[in-house]
Order: sequence, then structure tokens, then C-alpha cells
Amino acid sequence: MPYILDVDGVICRGSKPIVEGVKAVKLLIDRGEKFVFVSNNSTRSRRMLLERFRSFGLDVSEDKIIVATYATSIYLKKRYGKLKIFTTGEKGLIDELKLAGHEIVDYEDAECLVVASNRNLDYNLMTKALRCCMKTDIYVATNPDKIFPGWDGPIPGTGMIIGALYWMTSRMPTVVGKPSEIIMREAIERLGVKEEEVVVVGDQIEVDVVAGKKLGCKTALVLSGVTKQESLKDLSEKPDIIAKDLFQLVHELL
Ligand SMILES: [Mg+2]
Repeated sequence: MPYILDVDGVICRGSKPIVEGVKAVKLLIDRGEKFVFVSNNSTRSRRMLLERFRSFGLDVSEDKIIVATYATSIYLKKRYGKLKIFTTGEKGLIDELKLAGHEIVDYEDAECLVVASNRNLDYNLMTKALRCCMKTDIYVATNPDKIFPGWDGPIPGTGMIIGALYWMTSRMPTVVGKPSEIIMREAIERLGVKEEEVVVVGDQIEVDVVAGKKLGCKTALVLSGVTKQESLKDLSEKPDIIAKDLFQLVHELL
């Protein structure tokens, strides 16, 4: 059965591996199952994620990784061609934008604004983002995440910038990351199968399960990340399958 796998909360928590998640991916590789990772991470390139996977002992190829930085870069390229882009993002995103052939410029020269998390965000960068947002036609966000689970508590996601710009300009971006269909269509295309054959696995209802349901895929929620056992009674959307972790899920489905 082909899988679309979330990364954070399924395979790892930040830089720390989830043992059952890693074990499950090794099992999928051994059995020759089709899978692709889809991550809303807006600060890492495919190469950075690949290196992280290697540090967990997982050897997967780059074509199995669709991260929001990469998905944004190729979405823009396919839809508009090569663009002059101003971005709030970090090196991981800039690397992917350049690899797709886009040019990174200051806000005065930009045809497109790409917003994404930046752990060094300051007043100067927000001023440039604001000015860019007021003049460019093309405005996209890598992902819509409001809050991320940090190791010592919640940390702001890309939503911090989307929210601030909306409050200032009343503009909302085109969103590429989950639950947007843009990143999910890319994953289905990569797998080369029909939507209804795919299981979308993740740890968040509003992100992963909603994304899967939009496309008519099967959906599975794992409890190794953000969603805990005690919150299952008041879920806004019901996944087809709920499992403790990815290993338990894969074991049931194989
Ligand atoms: Mg997740």
C-alpha cells in the first residue's frame, strides 16, 4: 500500500528520532513498499532532511522527500517560471528556491514574496516583508502552521508572519504546505498511484488528516507526536485508522 508519511511527530521530534517510526520505514523499504515523506518544515532543504534521516540510520533517496521548502520552489516554477523572489525564510528555503532556478533579491526588485519561518526574524525583516507584500502580485507561504511543539514548549510557526502581514495588509498568501492540495498533489504524482490507494499518515488532525481527506485518500493518525490519547474524544475529523505509532500502523496494514 503506498504511503504519504509526515516527518515531525512520526519519524522524529526535532532532531531526536522516534524509534518505532524509524523501524517502520526500514520495514517499508525491506518490503519494497512505495512511500514519500511530506513535511511542512519551512527551514530545511531536502538535503538537510536527508542528513537528519542518515543520522537516524535511515538511507532514503532525495526523490522520496517533499518538504514545504522544495514544494514551494517547484510550485512557483511550474506555475510562473523562474521568478525574482524576496523571502523571509532561512538558508534551507533559499537553497531550494535557487536550485529551482529562482533569483533571490531584495524586496524592491521582487516579483514574488515567499514567507516562511525564520529564527532570526526581526523588525527590519518584517518591514521588508510588509513593503514587499504591499507591491507584489505573487504572495505564497511555505506552510500555514501557527505553532510548533518545541522541546521545551510551543514555538511560533510561519503563522506568526502570515498573521502579522494579514493584520497590516489584509492579504492572505497562497499556502503550499499541508493541508493545502498543492503539496499533496505533488506527492500523489510522485507516487504515481490513485488517491484512494494511498494512506496519509501524520500526528495532527488539522494538518495531516484534513490534507488526506481533501484528496480522498485513506487517513491514519499516529499518537507519537502532537495528538495524545486523551484528546481523541474531541477530534474535529475522524481518521480511518488510529495507531500508537508508525510501526504499529505499518504492522497492521502489511
Ligand atoms: Mg507532524
